Amino acid sequence: MHNLTIAELIKGLQSKEFSSVELTQHFLNRIGSLNPAYNAVITVTAEQALKAAAEADIRLAAGNAPALCGVPILHKDIFCTNGVRTSCGSKMLDNFIPPYNATVVENFEQAGAVVLGKTNMDEFAMGSSNETSFYGPVKNPWATDCVPGGSSGGSAAAVAARLAPGATATDTGGSIRQPAALCGISGIKPTYGRVSRWGMVAFASSLDQGGPMARTAEDCALLLNCMASYDDKDSTCIDREVPDYTATLDGSVKGLRIGVPKEYFSEGLDAGIEEAVRAALANLEAQGAELVEISLPNSGLSVPAYYVIAPAEASANLSRFDGSRYGYRCEDPKDLLDMYSRSRSEGFGKEVQRRILIGTYCLSAGYYDAYYGKAQQVRKLIQQDFDRAFESVDLIMGPTCPSPAFKFGAKSDDPVAMYLEDIYTVATNLAGLPGMSIPCGMADNKPVGLQIIGNYFDEARMLNVAHQYQQATDWHDLAPEGVAS
Ligand code: GLN
Repeated sequence: MHNLTIAELIKGLQSKEFSSVELTQHFLNRIGSLNPAYNAVITVTAEQALKAAAEADIRLAAGNAPALCGVPILHKDIFCTNGVRTSCGSKMLDNFIPPYNATVVENFEQAGAVVLGKTNMDEFAMGSSNETSFYGPVKNPWATDCVPGGSSGGSAAAVAARLAPGATATDTGGSIRQPAALCGISGIKPTYGRVSRWGMVAFASSLDQGGPMARTAEDCALLLNCMASYDDKDSTCIDREVPDYTATLDGSVKGLRIGVPKEYFSEGLDAGIEEAVRAALANLEAQGAELVEISLPNSGLSVPAYYVIAPAEASANLSRFDGSRYGYRCEDPKDLLDMYSRSRSEGFGKEVQRRILIGTYCLSAGYYDAYYGKAQQVRKLIQQDFDRAFESVDLIMGPTCPSPAFKFGAKSDDPVAMYLEDIYTVATNLAGLPGMSIPCGMADNKPVGLQIIGNYFDEARMLNVAHQYQQATDWHDLAPEGVAS
């Protein structure tokens, strides 16, 4: 059952080939036996899952069940879950049990999905390797001495290891696409404002966006149908009809203009990745799409701009964790200041503290204009690059990341090397555009991701092309050793 896609699971559930309770128990057993090797899931909600599955079976029997009824999923531990710990990968929130559900969690509950548990992640979603989690790193199912990517590495590894057929994730600078690429699965970061951020722990509010991960584009479409909604509790959520993303998957790619940015194939790109991505582009060309070389001249500025803006917003968002309201509080504080400073220095890990320092510095009087103001100007230029490109192309494609999954420790002592993992992904967050990654080959025996960038609210077209590519290839069907049997 664990090798079936969500689309196939829905069919099996509706035709009573298996029940949701059987399916849920099967995935819970897999989590029990396989997760210790990967550390992808940090909270298992077995009892609640089986209860939800039994309820789903009743709805399925009645014949009027909603789309995802009875389908097991995992939530990234950044989404608040009523009565279930939501740690955000941090000691700071290790004891935090939210009294409410995030809108995304609520949407899945309404759709009848069964939540198996919560996935591991980089602390407060800051990282590209999952090494910053308070709960220890996640191992890449393709090579357990390598990182799964981050920050949604737990969700990506869980889907790759078939511990769940799909999972939620978030992407502030690449955290859906980069781990999807490194773990050989599909993931889509929708347009900023498409998915509600209410109840999703904030990292950098002008960049954060939730989205789904699954093995195929079709499954991502099924999950996004449920995840995307207008929510008046999130003032940046956009009131716009959610199309049925599965309805347009079968359209032909004939005549589609695909922009290939020359800046995405320059120095620093692994040769094996380039080869796989070029082969994927050639496949789409053979299907009738037209490849157009384009230029995004300011792409080299996206990492520096991002690493000013994201930490600046993070420093403001994380000021709420001070030991007084909720989360970690140090023992025996001498006075109020001692409580603030010790709670924060004991509760936050190194990377989070580094970001708070950078962000506070960039926002301080005297430096604000030089750093934060400048970064905002650069952000505008990056946005204009994309606006110009989309005048002549329908989609943009290139690699998701510069190299395949790397070994633990390879970049953790060098923040700049780690930040460069985001070189192809952060620009879309700065512009608010949707981005996706799908598996398109192997390099060094590890998966390669093809990145698809769309215009605002053009998720349906991205999913359509991704699906067409997956109809013609089988990279998305490959499984890490020992996982499929
Ligand atoms: N790797 C990036 C960072 O560390 C992106 C993280 C994310 O998208 N949440 O900030």
